[in-house]
Amino acid sequence: MTLGNSATEHYDYAVVGMGIGGLALGALLANAGKRVIIFEQHYLPGGYGHTFAQGGFAFCAELHYVWDCGPGERVTKMLEKLGLDKEVTFRRLDPDGFDRIIGPGVDYTIGSGFDRELERLGGLFPGHEPGLRKYYGTIDAIHRQMYDLPIGFSWRTVLAHPSRYPHLLLYATWTLERLFDKLGFPAELRLILAGQSAIFFMPPRDLSLLVHAGGVGSYNQGAYYPSRSYRHVMRALLNKVREQPGCRSMLSTEITGIHVENGRARSVTTIRGETFNADNVLFDADAQLSLDLIGRRNFPKAFLRKLDYDYGPSVVSIYLGLRDIDLRRHGLGEQNIFWHPKVDLNEVYDDQLGDTFPDYPFFFCNSPTLRPHDAVLAPEGCSQLIMVAPCTYDSFAELRSKSEDAYQTAKQQFADRVIAVVESELVPGLSGHIVEQAVGTPLTNYFYVRAPKGNCYSSPLDPRHVNLRRLNYKSPFANLHFVGASSSLPGFATVIHFACMLYEKLTGDRVY
Ligand SMILES: Cc1cc2nc3c(=O)[nH]c(=O)nc-3n(C[C@H](O)[C@H](O)[C@H](O)COP(=O)(O)OP(=O)(O)OC[C@H]3O[C@@H](n4cnc5c(N)ncnc54)[C@H](O)[C@@H]3O)c2cc1C
Repeated sequence: MTLGNSATEHYDYAVVGMGIGGLALGALLANAGKRVIIFEQHYLPGGYGHTFAQGGFAFCAELHYVWDCGPGERVTKMLEKLGLDKEVTFRRLDPDGFDRIIGPGVDYTIGSGFDRELERLGGLFPGHEPGLRKYYGTIDAIHRQMYDLPIGFSWRTVLAHPSRYPHLLLYATWTLERLFDKLGFPAELRLILAGQSAIFFMPPRDLSLLVHAGGVGSYNQGAYYPSRSYRHVMRALLNKVREQPGCRSMLSTEITGIHVENGRARSVTTIRGETFNADNVLFDADAQLSLDLIGRRNFPKAFLRKLDYDYGPSVVSIYLGLRDIDLRRHGLGEQNIFWHPKVDLNEVYDDQLGDTFPDYPFFFCNSPTLRPHDAVLAPEGCSQLIMVAPCTYDSFAELRSKSEDAYQTAKQQFADRVIAVVESELVPGLSGHIVEQAVGTPLTNYFYVRAPKGNCYSSPLDPRHVNLRRLNYKSPFANLHFVGASSSLPGFATVIHFACMLYEKLTGDRVY
């Protein structure tokens, strides 16, 4: 192994990856006086939450709205711990409507409050009020029990306390569809309810009921957007590391090796051949990538099975900079809009994730500039519109392996189809106002965020992958811990929650 000059530098913690998990944990540890070094292969911090600049616009890559950012909630508690709660604040999206679900015969805006939703949906679907009552009761109970789980939970945790986690025991293997079937819900009601967790990119047939309940239960308490921007959130956390004595951060620095010896991680090596010694290594990249960095042969067989998970769907993301158009006049506001070409979500996904790109793709969209914010997200007189449409990795990877031209053409065709649907269904004349456009595919996700197969949420969020045997922070190396979506659950606030619990475990200090 090559040792650079850096071999003399010694840290308490080396953090691989500046996604929200690495940044949150790195900031907490630095704030507690630990010597932290944090690395990121991209030139920007934030992982999927990074913000890129183009033509005067500031586009956040993949955080659309987040939860747990209200007074007394988990993200706020972390910010308080860091003394950042005055600097990094969030605004609540309209509690009367933050998600709008559109499909054939359906146009429904979801707000906070299960009682209110029960009343509204009960009125729209007479005869289903008892089923809806049972549905919301189940979602609420699962949500509460999930957030009561300690870090590193397993079947053993839950079996040892059956009266504390009854719903987790009962529903651990359920899909959302199984609950819909049991309650006999009609197609339109399924679309609305499943639409509440459409951001997880799984049809009800496959989506874990636990994941659905986690998302719906959390947004029910409040959907949030940063008062300034995600760039500001990520920079504030990174600065917390940079400002502490004995700490260091390195952007544009890929870690290419983690050296292990006698069951412990000893050092990390950068792409430039520098080596940094550390007492502990925290791994925020997708956990499977640790195999390449540490070497498969160093892992016990049983653990290799834990890392042998599949990846969930990817997306095409389209970022538009618009000039001289008032999106409010077209019915857009603070909400996310989920647009579905069919009522049956299972069919929608079959079409979208099949061999050919659909003519009328399913997508969601929102306009960050229509949300209350203090940052400059667009030049004067301009606005943003962001669309995200699920897709497979293979379709794009195959094209690129044949020809760069074929890949670029397909990427633009996919984007054009989504834009055409937005133009015909939501914003007539849209294309005449586009002044900037960026399109990301699964390959873009790999390039900028090292998301294998361009995955959005690491493994698919189905009961086979999200269960009480799921990979957690523990690795087979005593001082190397996983942090981030692949070893917890995805989502800005969830990853922060697990990072806070890991911080408490590592230091004995309290965040909550
Ligand atoms: C399309 C889409 C929409 C989403 N929408 C939302 C939403 O609205 N709300 C929400 O809460 N969540 C949303 N999410 C999920 C959320 O973005 C993620 O769950 C979360 O940001 C993951 O954080 P993380 O810390 O696990 O790491 P990541 O964001 O995956 O970051 C990992 C970082 O590690 C770096 N890295 C990897 N390997 C190395 C290496 N060898 N050396 C150095 N650096 C390395 C990567 O470059 C990356 O920056 C969305 C995700 C997607 C894809």
